Amino acid sequence: MSIQIQHVTKSFGTFQALKDISIDIESGELIALLGPSGSGKTTLLRILAGLEGLDGGRILFDGEDITNVSPKERKIGFVFQHYALFRHMTVFDNVAYGLKVRPRKIRPSKEEIAKKVHELLSLVKLENFHDRYPSQLSGGQRQRVALARALAVEPKVLLLDEPFGALDAKVRKELRRWLRKLHDEFNVTSIFVTHDQEEALDVANRIIVMNQGKIEQVGTPEEVYDNPKSPFVYDFLGNVNIFKGRLQNGKLKQGLFEINAPHALNSYEEAIGYVRPHDIQIEKEKVNNETVAAKIMYIHVVGPTVQIELKRQDVDEYLEAELTKEQYKTLNIQKGDIVYVRPKQLKVFIPEDFSI
Ligand code: ATP
Repeated sequence: MSIQIQHVTKSFGTFQALKDISIDIESGELIALLGPSGSGKTTLLRILAGLEGLDGGRILFDGEDITNVSPKERKIGFVFQHYALFRHMTVFDNVAYGLKVRPRKIRPSKEEIAKKVHELLSLVKLENFHDRYPSQLSGGQRQRVALARALAVEPKVLLLDEPFGALDAKVRKELRRWLRKLHDEFNVTSIFVTHDQEEALDVANRIIVMNQGKIEQVGTPEEVYDNPKSPFVYDFLGNVNIFKGRLQNGKLKQGLFEINAPHALNSYEEAIGYVRPHDIQIEKEKVNNETVAAKIMYIHVVGPTVQIELKRQDVDEYLEAELTKEQYKTLNIQKGDIVYVRPKQLKVFIPEDFSI
């Protein structure tokens, strides 16, 4: 089912939680709503579900205006962070619930329900847990039951609000894989809320980045990561190094230091270059003015990557570089060394990019 969100606004008292949100979601997409706390993600999800009214705008499902349609009639499956399973029901009954409460005319037979529940439990690898109660399951298992329960009613849209929020990193990762797999299998249009950029980049086929009730950017994980439209998106999607200066002739200049910024052709007195840690190159000798001297303050080896914290020698600012272990070994550097830092892949923003 395709979803069109058109000019949706929502206020709580005088506070505007959503400001003119418009987006088209195609049938079968897996979308992440990503943004910091309070940016309006849950409000938008609740509006899609029909659990929250809106002040302006409308929502279309497959071209049909459903703005005033009740949640029940929207054919939506939900999964929330705090596994809202029915405590007094077994896993089987939890998954079967949505089918059992259907009006008699459209209710499947007992046998059909049992068959379906077992299929779903085997899909989420919990076929042997059907007679357990939620309290007898781990957090990750409960979330899988919640997913199976949401899918049992064959929703046209699956909405997930921080579904893996309360779980540890390993289980989260496992469940992400599950979500992608289930999504591929069922091809249900799915939208999940997260404030974890890694989760969004890893799972979604498109990401909607939200900030203060507005959409900052919509794009594939690659687009939003490699080509962020605003400093906010750049910052929110990963660690960043900042180089301040003035823009002139396609270069960002600060004192003698100048970095190539071929995409920034206009001149500005104030500009800020953003560089990801893995786009910082470290050299042992100064070759030209495209490098800046920095002292190595800290070296942290994390699995196959090495994070290096450096302090610039010309201004009181810190930088973070990320190298592969091989690069690190070849460089043969140590804490306390003075090295030369060359920013590659600079993205330049000017002051007006910072206003939202
Ligand atoms: P989080 O990641 O913390 O869940 P979020 O992006 O999902 O944040 P929302 O829950 O959508 O944010 O809230 C957006 C803003 O609207 C917040 O400032 C919140 O305080 C406010 N808000 C949400 N629901 C209500 C409500 N029922 N009454 C008043 N204000 C509300």
